[in-house]
Amino acid sequence: MKLPEKGQDWPAIKAMLESRGAGDAKWRDGKTAVYVFNAGEDVERVQKEAYAAFMSENGLGPLAFPSLAQMEKDVISMALGLLHGPEEATGAMTSGGTDSITMAVKTARDYARSQGRAREQANIILPQSAHLAFDKAAHLMDIEVRRIPLKTDGSFEADPAAMGEAVDKDTIMMVGSAPNFPHGIIDPIEALGRLAQEKGVWLHVDACVGGYFAPFARMNGEPVPPFDFEVPGVMSMSADLHKYGYAAKGASTVLFRSEDLYSFMPFDLAGWSGAPMKTPTLAGTRPGGAISAAWAVMNYLGVEGYRRLQGKVCETRKRLETGLDRLGFQVVGKPVLGLIAFHHPDLHSFALYGEIYRRGWFTSVTKQPPSLHLMLSPKHADVVDAYLADLEAACEAVRSGEAGSKPKVEARYS
Ligand SMILES: *Cc1c(COP(=O)(O)O)cnc(C)c1O
Repeated sequence: MKLPEKGQDWPAIKAMLESRGAGDAKWRDGKTAVYVFNAGEDVERVQKEAYAAFMSENGLGPLAFPSLAQMEKDVISMALGLLHGPEEATGAMTSGGTDSITMAVKTARDYARSQGRAREQANIILPQSAHLAFDKAAHLMDIEVRRIPLKTDGSFEADPAAMGEAVDKDTIMMVGSAPNFPHGIIDPIEALGRLAQEKGVWLHVDACVGGYFAPFARMNGEPVPPFDFEVPGVMSMSADLHKYGYAAKGASTVLFRSEDLYSFMPFDLAGWSGAPMKTPTLAGTRPGGAISAAWAVMNYLGVEGYRRLQGKVCETRKRLETGLDRLGFQVVGKPVLGLIAFHHPDLHSFALYGEIYRRGWFTSVTKQPPSLHLMLSPKHADVVDAYLADLEAACEAVRSGEAGSKPKVEARYS
């Protein structure tokens, strides 16, 4: 497209936008289980109106927009209240999980340097299942990544003993996920916390996908192990508002155990021509709408609303598990939140993926072990039976060879 010589009127452009969207994944009807978190039309309306209300304002200017500065503080305070942040804990809003993780890694690195460590070469220790955002951050900062295989007991949890062996004097961070993205499994954060304290290493908990889910699941009685600042070794956390916080996209939180640790995050520079400009995170300009929408949705839902929605997601996952069991699938590990990966002993997951896609479902896969992958939203309560019926049909299709090439999967993964 070339920039049109003359502009067009809004109704015409709006119609073009609608027609462009017509070919996209049909997430509103619940047939998408990746990328979008569908908490219902009422939440979507709150997101939109609250976003629009501060869309032009800029979080870069807390003096010009004390409203945004206060809303961000409120969001962080609500986050820390949920995640057992101690009195001195603090944090900031970022544009997303990748941003939160990048800033946590940078902060841990600068903290280590302030202690006279890792000045030449730094490394971070990740379980194999940790999000690739850590590798991106490490790539940007020339940090070595040590990915450590998971436990071999079928739990798909991080292996603290093996991670401990990889720690050396240049290690600036160890990571646990709550839960990880590929399998939806919460790593043994207490064991990692003990290890981190023993070794004197910073432990980051990546709760991007679970930070605004796990606390409510626990209130509902789900077996959620300690995973947040309640565990003494945890120095920082990432938790995405634009996932199970049901906020508009462009909203995450990065949290630190203390003001002192946090103080290694903001950036400041006297030596340029412009006005002083201290920024807490990677961004300069920060969309006000992302802040106001997160603040509004949190206040709209409250503990009660989140408990209801997350209860619905857990319930849906259990219904799904029952159906999967009936169809002969095996679930990867024991997920307790809204992410689930599963595979069939006789049918290749990627062939099944193709069949389920042909039936109108936009879902995802996990590579290790080859599995189908779903990220469940409250909306999926309405469609889980339809999904299972289509999955059964997909199994039949793959079994009878309709699906073309169907390599037989090796069903055992340790
Ligand atoms: C989504 C996710 C991230 C990255 O978050 P973005 O908002 O996509 O940048 C990091 N870690 C985990 C566990 C995630 O699920």
